[in-house]
Order: sequence, then structure tokens, then C-alpha cells
Amino acid sequence: MTLVSQYRPIVVEAASVSDSEILRGYAEFWKIPYQAKTEPNEEHTVITTSNGMALIGDAPVIVSPAGREGAEKIARDHGLTLNSKNALISLPARRDVRVSLRTDLYEFSGPDLDPILRSGDISILSKIRGADIYVLAVDLVGEYVRRVIRGFEDKPSRRFWLATKLPFSYQSIPRSIRNRSFRSSKGTDEITEDKLGPIECLRTIFLASLVLSSGPIPRIAFWKRGKSYALAVTHDVETKAGLETGAPRLLAVERNLGIQSTWNVPSARYPLPTGSLDILTETGEVGAHDTMHDGRLIFLGSEAKIQRLKDCKQRLEKLTGRETRGFRSPLLQHGADLASATAKAGYAYDSSCPSWEILSPTSLGAHGVGTVFPFEIADTLEIPVSLPQDHQLIRVAKQEPSAAVDLLLRLSKWMRGLGAPCVLLVHPDYEFGTVDYEPEYLRLLQNFASDPECQIMTLSEMGAWWRHRASAYWDIREGSATVLSPDTESPSKDLQAELVTSYGVDGFTVDIL
Ligand SMILES: [Zn+2]
Repeated sequence: MTLVSQYRPIVVEAASVSDSEILRGYAEFWKIPYQAKTEPNEEHTVITTSNGMALIGDAPVIVSPAGREGAEKIARDHGLTLNSKNALISLPARRDVRVSLRTDLYEFSGPDLDPILRSGDISILSKIRGADIYVLAVDLVGEYVRRVIRGFEDKPSRRFWLATKLPFSYQSIPRSIRNRSFRSSKGTDEITEDKLGPIECLRTIFLASLVLSSGPIPRIAFWKRGKSYALAVTHDVETKAGLETGAPRLLAVERNLGIQSTWNVPSARYPLPTGSLDILTETGEVGAHDTMHDGRLIFLGSEAKIQRLKDCKQRLEKLTGRETRGFRSPLLQHGADLASATAKAGYAYDSSCPSWEILSPTSLGAHGVGTVFPFEIADTLEIPVSLPQDHQLIRVAKQEPSAAVDLLLRLSKWMRGLGAPCVLLVHPDYEFGTVDYEPEYLRLLQNFASDPECQIMTLSEMGAWWRHRASAYWDIREGSATVLSPDTESPSKDLQAELVTSYGVDGFTVDIL
């Protein structure tokens, strides 16, 4: 129990039910206490997309414009000048850690407007003088929908579609042609923080706006008490050679460091005799990686997708004697229909989309969902592959494995600063599964294993933890705040309560409660 006497209740209520759901998703992400409706005779702060609430409210109201039309209405109602443009904004999340986003900005100006939060010379949050009304220059709802909900669809290119129509799998296309069509001309310079996590910038704007207008806000930290970020090591086992030769090498490195990893195995691509997966389940866990791995899963109807996912799960469970909890799609193909099928087939989570990659083999363009954190979509929990996978860095961008490790370590430092989960994808079939590059694989993992702040988990543990945190809730009465664990309805022992006290040039200032 902690004193949060300055805390003022937050009401999240948008113009429509669907907008409210998206806006509340931001509050759920941070796990701040909030309510859906205003209560009479209570001091509160409202965050909304509806300017109507700002006009009638007697409490501080933050308005995020619902697109250009919403912005024009805000400008009209308050006599402001509106300047719309597309620009890159950048904000501190904490000291030396920044989050960035390129977006449509609705910049308001006027003699009675005071900038409260700026990115360079762009005013992100402004207060209307003499009124308790704050206007945002960013469409929090529209941008999230565009990037995460619609961005989750990775539309197969015609070239990919044709390849899967051939009577043999796309794997039988001669390697020279395959590599040519899947190679990107762009280098790893393209892999930047604003591509991996633009959504993190939106989330920062959401919380910073509340803290700046309303005062200190309690939140639940992302990971277990004492841990500030997380790592899940995952492997997709593409070939028999990968299983028999590469996997034991990677496992030896992991065992030495005490790391348990997740091995995603296709159930019907190469022979899997009894006992063949024992080496994986001894220290790690087995996840599903389709049956045939022929690139056709994404094109199947919903029922056929579910059946194929069930077949894969059953076969792997029979082989391992354990539940197969998660799914990873071949080629990281993903979409709402497939994600929904994973839930219907009984998987607890899906980990099939990249935060961002240079070249999606499906759409043959750069692609990603733009967040490094897990999120709910299509009735499942999606855990993005948050760091670029080895295949993209070494095979597509033609980097030396040592340079690939350097890049992964640089990006993971940024993610550590955000408190994000680093989800690595390393194939036993490629370079890191060979003797030559074992020292590089060791160097990569040692960085995490030697860091006491890193919570190292398998993917299914990460999924279970994220759901556990999601279902916790706040009990706030008479100025004290307690995080209650849903399982026991008593104060949580493993979740860490925090108080965000301010936001400034070094990002959020946070007290551990
Ligand atoms: Zn694969």
C-alpha cells in the first residue's frame, strides 16, 4: 500500500466505442488506474478524442484530434489556427533514450495557447489559457489503428502468391532465384529505433500528457520486481540439419549461461522420429512452426488454417509429451485471420510478426507493426519478434555475423532503456549454428545473461507473464494505491507498483512504490 494523495482519477472516454477501446488500450499498456466514465463531484482528468467533452467539462480535458476533420473542429471551436503537416517527432522516454515517430501533425497556434510539451519547435501538447483544455497535435487513435491494426496485415505480393501456386513448395525454387527475389538493396542503416517502435512514441505522448496536465500517476512496471526489461531467445528450426547439428551447438552455449529458449518446429517438413525433440525439451520448450512450412498457410481459409494449426500442435504434443503453447508462422507471415486461428486452435500466444524488417518475404517490402511490446489482436496475444532476425541481417542485408551482433546489442540497449522485451530469432540452420560463429552467439547472449536487470524467459513464460500483468488491477482508496493480483485478490508480490511523478527533458521520473 502506498500513499498517492496527489493522484487524480483519469477518465478515458472517446467519441465512439471503438475509439474508446483504442484509447483505453494506451491506459492498459501502462497499467495506470483509469475509469470509463466521469463520476459526479469528483476531481478528475479526462482524455478523449471528442471536443464536445472539452466544451462541457469542468475538469482538465486532453483532446487528441480524430484525424484532420477532428482537428479542424477543435480549431473552429476554440478559435485556433491549424497547420497540418507530416513530420518526424522525437521525445525522451528517459535519460539518453528517445522514441520517435513520423506522423501527420495537427499543430494548433493562437495567442491564448501555451505549449506544454514540445518536440523541437513542434508543440505536441498545448494548453488553452484560461480554460482547463489541452490539445494534442497527434491523433493517438488513428495512428495506432493505421500502424498496428491495419499494419498487422502483411499483404502477400503477387510474386509470392505465384510461387506458392507452383506444384512444389517455394523452397524448391532454385536458391539463386529465391535469394535474388528476396534480397533487399537496402542495408542495415534502415534499421532504426523509429521503425522498430514508433508506437512507443505514441504511448509516451499519452502518459506524458496525463502527467503534465494531471500530476503524478501510478503505474505497474512491465516486469517482475527487480527486473527492468526482458529477453526471450527463440529459434525456428527450418531443416533436419538445423535440428541435428545446429541446435545442439546453440543449446550448449545457452546451457552454459543458464538460458532456456523456445524452439519452433514444423511438424511435417522433415522426419521427426520419437525422441528427436528430447534435446530441445530438456532445457527449453517447443513451439509450433506450421506443418509443411510451404508458405501456403496464409492463403488457406479460416477453417483450414485452424485445422492445420491443430494438426501441428497435436503432433508436437505427442512427440514431446508436453503442451505446445505458442505458434510462430513460417516466414513470419501474419494477419488477423491467422492470429485468430491460432487462438481457436488452442495456442496461448502467437509470435509471428516482426516489429520491423527490411524485407518481408511475403509482401516483398519493408514491413512491421511498429511496436516492440506484446499486444492483443484478433483474440490472441501477439508477441512481436522485436529484434531483427539473423536471416534478415546476414542473408538479406549481407552483414558479417559479428556486425549483426553489434547491431543487435545496440538495439537491445535502446530496448533496455524502454523496459521492452527483446525477442531474438536465431536459426540453428544458419551462421550462428556453425562452429565458426559460436563465439559471436556467446557474445550476444552473454550481454543479457550478465545483466541482473534482465528477466530471461521462454516465449510461453513471457506470454503468461504479460497476461498476468494485464489482469492485475489497482485498488485506490483514501489516497492509498495497491496493486491487486487477480489470482489471489490480495496485494501482488511479483508486480512492481511505480509512481510517475513528472515528465521532462530526461523523460519520465519514476518512483518505485
Ligand atoms: Zn521457418
